[in-house]
Amino acid sequence: MNAPASEFALIDRHFRRPVQHADVRVGIGDDAAVIAPTPGAELAVSVDMLVEGRHFMAGADPKALGHKALAVNLSDLAAMGARPRFALLAGALPEPDEAWLDAFMQGFRALAQRHDVELIGGDTTSGPRNLCVTVIGELPAGAAITRAGARAGDDIYVSGTLGAAALAVAAARGNVALADADRDRLRARLDRPEPRVGLGLGLRGVASAALDVSDGLTGDLAHILEASGCGATLEWARLPADPAIAARLDGPDRALALRCLLAGGDDYELCFTAPAHSRASIAALSHALDVACTRVGVIDAGDALAVVDRDGAPLQPLPRAFDHFA
Ligand code: ADP
Ligand code: MG
Repeated sequence: MNAPASEFALIDRHFRRPVQHADVRVGIGDDAAVIAPTPGAELAVSVDMLVEGRHFMAGADPKALGHKALAVNLSDLAAMGARPRFALLAGALPEPDEAWLDAFMQGFRALAQRHDVELIGGDTTSGPRNLCVTVIGELPAGAAITRAGARAGDDIYVSGTLGAAALAVAAARGNVALADADRDRLRARLDRPEPRVGLGLGLRGVASAALDVSDGLTGDLAHILEASGCGATLEWARLPADPAIAARLDGPDRALALRCLLAGGDDYELCFTAPAHSRASIAALSHALDVACTRVGVIDAGDALAVVDRDGAPLQPLPRAFDHFA
């Protein structure tokens, strides 16, 4: 399995497959892919890079990595309300390790198949391990949910639960000890995030603004506030905390739990805003998809983010979101 292989043999074995969709006019194997978008559709395009030592540790499970490399990109499309269609994969590998590639592509393809995403191209090179995925999604014209549409009075929602991935990272670094019952679940949230694609589609025409929570809720919500030119009040006690986080909010690990909840990255939930008259539609959507959508605060006409407890007292100091260059 590990005999040296040429770049082109690797491409043929691991990436090239018969074209699946009629709108892929030219797939893998030419100088560029040619796609025919659905007439009238707009394209949402996003790229995300995973770097060894930065986004994942050397020795990380390649199958989980293949899943995550695509999942973080599908999460971006979900946040725009776009339907994922195509992906490109650029990879640098230290050596042509076919067993590694095979497992990586198993994880990648399993998620791609679930969302009917076709791999249409990429690049393969040697170098420090680095995986870069580009995704292309489709939207009806004008239907994209951007970060700029929040208005004073809108409710703020978060999907699923928050804090699990950051708590798994804290445990991996030895900063907290996890119960056996929590370990696998938290680790799965970190390694195999589930992009909220169905929710994103359902939020078209309902949400006024949205983004995916990749760097931590307060920092990510601040992006919506800046783009929309408004402020917000977030009631932290309403946040849908992972049970392992909730259990730590009143104990010795409270500071860590709050940091995971408010500023922990890698959860890939959606944070979105919507006018109060959409509450019933959002509840129905949440029920139909079996994805919790929790109301956690409200947009205001100010320009700051206040994080308060149940009595309205501000939380100080506010945990900070992740920033690669901070
Ligand atoms: P070029 O040199 O013209 O850029 P390449 O030799 O890099 O073309 O790639 C040949 C074909 O294989 C192209 O269609 C390219 O999109 C595809 N390809 C290369 N690497 C990957 C990859 N990691 N995943 C998917 N397709 C790939
Ligand atoms: Mg090339």
